[in-house]
Amino acid sequence: MPCFSCGARQTDPIRGASPWTRGVRDETLVLVCPDCRRTHEADLDTCSTCGSVALICRLGEVECRSCGSVRPARGDGRLAASYAPGLADEVEAALARVLRRVP
Ligand SMILES: [Zn+2]
Ligand SMILES: [Zn+2]
Repeated sequence: MPCFSCGARQTDPIRGASPWTRGVRDETLVLVCPDCRRTHEADLDTCSTCGSVALICRLGEVECRSCGSVRPARGDGRLAASYAPGLADEVEAALARVLRRVP
């Protein structure tokens, strides 16, 4: 997998751990080369709990390796969609109550 930002190919380090890091972008697991990690870290998804970019994306969920919080992948849209109708109903009900008080 190449670097998500510059497209460089990861090379195996002669020894030690690879300086490349994994991150999540658009809820897809990506690799980031050391250069782009410095300059393009803001492009990565961040944990909504702790703000860390140390996320891993796996089947249906995104897990933060810093604080361990897990959220469903691609759930934001669904959640918003499922929350919005209820919210709209509440607003509508509140509006109806207010309007009914008006003579
Ligand atoms: Zn790069
Ligand atoms: Zn976190």
